[in-house]
Amino acid sequence: MTKPLLDMRRLTRDYTSSTLFGTPHVTRALDDFTLTINKGEIFGIVGESGCGKSTLARIVMALDRPSAGNVIFDDQDLFSLPEKDLTAKREDFQMVFQDPFGSLDPRFRVGRTIAEPMHVLARRPEKSEIRERVADMLESVGLEAAHADRHPHEFSGGQRQRIAIARALITEPKLVVADEAVSALDLSVQAQVLNLLMDLREKRGVTFLFITHNLAVVDCIADRVGVMYRGRLVETGPAQEVFEQPHHPYTKVLADAEPSITRFGRPPAKAPATGIALNGQGGCVFRDRCPLAVERCVAERPELRTMDKGRQVACHRAEEMAQRLSP
Ligand code: ADP
Repeated sequence: MTKPLLDMRRLTRDYTSSTLFGTPHVTRALDDFTLTINKGEIFGIVGESGCGKSTLARIVMALDRPSAGNVIFDDQDLFSLPEKDLTAKREDFQMVFQDPFGSLDPRFRVGRTIAEPMHVLARRPEKSEIRERVADMLESVGLEAAHADRHPHEFSGGQRQRIAIARALITEPKLVVADEAVSALDLSVQAQVLNLLMDLREKRGVTFLFITHNLAVVDCIADRVGVMYRGRLVETGPAQEVFEQPHHPYTKVLADAEPSITRFGRPPAKAPATGIALNGQGGCVFRDRCPLAVERCVAERPELRTMDKGRQVACHRAEEMAQRLSP
């Protein structure tokens, strides 16, 4: 039995802002989001821009609090921990950001940057041990120990992202959240960095929550994938199965728009489907774009439910969808 490392329970995050006329406006960035990620798994989260991926990443990293819901990490409820215990816990989860140019401080030598997360460690290591761990980390990510004395501008984009990965791994975390971690890199460099992450999972047993808008990247790296739409999780399952045979109409729109994913030569997405207008609360939030929408999709919000083995989907028409795509 695989053991869960990260259990996100009914997470909701509302942002309140004021309009020009002072009336408050609420954006629900996460909406009743529930997902469990197992130890040693690479879990991919996909969805178009604005669907709540970065909000999710910030909450999992405890950089932001949910408006409702819990994050259970390694059997502990992160947001009920006293501040001191949460700080101590931070060594177990780290993050790699998108921008390999902006995320490294140009003033500091690479060795100092990589060592930086170690300040959360309960036991502050000796200088010689820090140097040794940084050198070991640099080698683990395919760089050289001597690179610790250089500055970020002396490295290429791919090498800088390796440095960012070394920094994330220096505290030997159990979980790494990678938010669009290869999106800014050239294709060939992307492949090298993805191979490195898979290698690190093998060798160190790190669990990855890999967030991206790019399905091809997730298809290559992830064991399982979660598809997000408007703050909700609409489908999960083994990555290749989800993309080859989507059970949610939104997953199909995404897969069709990504030619490299459509292995069976399905045609790319046609003109946007006309569904049923989104007027009022409730019901399915995808119904205005859904070719399969029916009255039930207006009246009743689809909850995430288990279909065949390892697949979950939040759609009233999932059986119809699966049937249409079955070979
Ligand atoms: P993604 O990472 O998928 O692009 P985000 O999590 O950044 O999505 O944003 C989800 C939604 O929440 C968007 O509608 C965005 O405009 C809104 N949002 C994100 N951060 C804030 C904020 N600090 N204040 C107000 N709205 C925000």
